[in-house]
Amino acid sequence: MTPDNVIIRNIGLLATCDGVGSNADEQLGLVRDAVVWISGGTVQFLGPKQGLPHHAAKVDALEVDADGGFVGPGLVDCHTHVVFAGDRSFEFEARCSGKSYLDIANAGGGIQHTVRATRAAPEATLVADALPRLNRLFSHGVTTAEVKSGYGLDLSSEIKMLRAIASLNQQQPISLHATAMPLHVVPLEFAQARGEYLTKIVTPLLEQIHEEKLATAVDAFVEQSAFTKDESSQYLKAARRLGFGIHLHVDQLTSGAAGAEWAAAEGAWSASHLEQISTRGIRAISASHTVAVLAPASTLFARVRPYAPGRALVDGGATVALCTNVNPGSSLSENVALTMSLACLENGLTPAEAYLAFTRNGGLALRSPSLGRLKTGNTADLVTYRANSYRDLPYHLATSLVREVFKGGTRFVI
Ligand SMILES: [Zn+2]
Repeated sequence: MTPDNVIIRNIGLLATCDGVGSNADEQLGLVRDAVVWISGGTVQFLGPKQGLPHHAAKVDALEVDADGGFVGPGLVDCHTHVVFAGDRSFEFEARCSGKSYLDIANAGGGIQHTVRATRAAPEATLVADALPRLNRLFSHGVTTAEVKSGYGLDLSSEIKMLRAIASLNQQQPISLHATAMPLHVVPLEFAQARGEYLTKIVTPLLEQIHEEKLATAVDAFVEQSAFTKDESSQYLKAARRLGFGIHLHVDQLTSGAAGAEWAAAEGAWSASHLEQISTRGIRAISASHTVAVLAPASTLFARVRPYAPGRALVDGGATVALCTNVNPGSSLSENVALTMSLACLENGLTPAEAYLAFTRNGGLALRSPSLGRLKTGNTADLVTYRANSYRDLPYHLATSLVREVFKGGTRFVI
């Protein structure tokens, strides 16, 4: 049973990620020798141990000893594709022998392979297959995750995916934010009639998703092998009319599309990937409210280069978030620690920037600014670590140092 009150004592270093300031060190909002009091699932008090209200001593609370370690907010993975069927290990093998991600996609593999498997799978299988992936994310400290559809690409299969996400939201502790992504690739049956896919499938699909409240946002993959900006703009117009937020996959595999500039102009909540972003794109994203979401594990796993210019984005003033982008083709990894390490080693972020990118900036990418921050009155999503500092998280390569996860005040020992 969840206790009404929890007091976490002996916190050596607490990051609230709610600090005020323009640089990462200020935004971390660090408190040394801290204590956190959770009551009724929300944060009742956090701060230096001397500040704990006297009446806290009188409540019947579960006392937790953080062992002098580091504590911070629950992590926000703002871009995942954890719901899918099938297996693409054969593609991994092909990439290891030198085939490119695009070679494999052009030969009928890639996303189309997962579409065939996902269409054939019942909803219950999608749910059962996704649960262990979400459990792995949770063990890495993720308490909120965005999950996209986009492997159905027909009306009933996209709805089936979104219903699976809704069902998963009830079956495990991570809060899920569903995003509809019918513009992932053009389904094979519409290869010669792309316009018809948009009018006959996507338009009614958006209406049904809106009616059944199955997603809060939409996404599109704008790339030579997927959709054009013109095609996507029509769809975004319809989505905006229905009140959906917008995420976009841009500037990933090929350069020249000016995807980042376009995402900023479309008012996207987030623009993901950005490996091929131009200097103009960096300026446009930095001048906008669009969050730049980097997915370095997919740069590694898909064997595409370069890594996105995270340093230039931060220096330009962009809000930069990180994601695992868990998916069966280009990033089969729920390893947040690996992603943070790559962000430091390959995208040029500092450990503080990488940590903020998985906490408050992930919340901003989902237009949920209370996520990824600890403050009085916020839902008590937080993580205790077998570590002294946020600096240890990317330093200990690909290794989770999570000790406990508190989700809405409920304690899970990892
Ligand atoms: Zn993605």
